[in-house]
Amino acid sequence: MEIAKLGEFGLIDRLTKDLKQKNESTKYGIGDDCAVLYYPESRVLVTADMLMEGVHFDLTYMDMQHLGYKSAMVNLSDIFAMNGTPRQLVVSIALSKRFTVEDLDAFYEGLRMACAKWNVDIVGGDTTSSLTGLAISITCIGEARATDIVYRNGAKDTDLICVSGDLGAAYMGLQLLEREKAVYYQQLAEMQRKSHTANSQQPTPEFTPDFAGKECLLQRQLQPEARGDIIQQLNKSGIRPTAMMDISDGLSSELLHICKQSGCGCRIYEKNIPIDYQTAVMAEELSFNVTTCAMNGGEDYELLFTVPLTDHDRVSEIPDVKVIGYITKAELGSSLISRDGQEFELKAQGWNHY
Ligand code: ADP
Ligand code: MG
Repeated sequence: MEIAKLGEFGLIDRLTKDLKQKNESTKYGIGDDCAVLYYPESRVLVTADMLMEGVHFDLTYMDMQHLGYKSAMVNLSDIFAMNGTPRQLVVSIALSKRFTVEDLDAFYEGLRMACAKWNVDIVGGDTTSSLTGLAISITCIGEARATDIVYRNGAKDTDLICVSGDLGAAYMGLQLLEREKAVYYQQLAEMQRKSHTANSQQPTPEFTPDFAGKECLLQRQLQPEARGDIIQQLNKSGIRPTAMMDISDGLSSELLHICKQSGCGCRIYEKNIPIDYQTAVMAEELSFNVTTCAMNGGEDYELLFTVPLTDHDRVSEIPDVKVIGYITKAELGSSLISRDGQEFELKAQGWNHY
């Protein structure tokens, strides 16, 4: 269905009509000039992310439902990274004519699934048109007690450096999708070259991408999970990290942020960096160095945090958390110790959108 058929208000109505507000802090959601929130006791955490078609996502291999899910999750991840609880989402979208009402239904289905998982309310947004594609801007509001907030600047000499989950998988997933996309376009170009008919019907190849055995890498790229479960675990274990952030641009770059803001250095060990078996297999297939992928691949959405040395035993008991090294004095710099004992200075390669 063309969006013009519903019009802007009809579309907003359709997308938001049966949204239920679940949080006490949501006093008023969609339907007026502003949403009204109420946080008498807490600090309010606010974060925003903007996602541009062609820069941050590619609709050739990402469907709208996954896009909705991921757009929400990357925001929730930022709230968890402050040791907070996400509560509300504000969703703004700019759409070009090629998008249908069903595309938007799917996008909102993904958003809703992510919000349902973490009990977050969609309380407003903006809907407008675009000449060039899809733009998404999501703002997430969360809360935390003032004393619970964990900044990037609290790491101290001798603190342990920990990461959740494993790293590099989302980046390998992206490489896999890009590889299959290239194969598809190659086949398409070949078919078009061969069928020099006046027929206006463009042929398309019957293409089945080869993802066998690598579904988990796709999932990490297309459907990342914000690690609120780790926040809950830390809380249960009575551990309050001294510094924390989520890993969106690669471990190397994020660790340097923590060191810079905390005025310290670090030593991490290659042998301790958590890497999934499929990530290693894919890196091997592409002749990439798997440690480089884990250090610099983007979009892991795992948590990187530091804890006092005295929490060693307690943090080691948490499943899916790994101690990868420790914080040092600033003079010692930031280094990675390789498997054969060599020392390398950490460099931020990260993601460069430009
Ligand atoms: P205004 O003209 O005041 O900006 P709108 O007509 O754009 O209001 O929006 C009407 C209501 O619908 C507001 O509560 C707004 O927050 C909400 N809204 C608009 N677009 C979206 C969207 N994409 N997702 C969720 N809520 C939306
Ligand atoms: Mg508006």
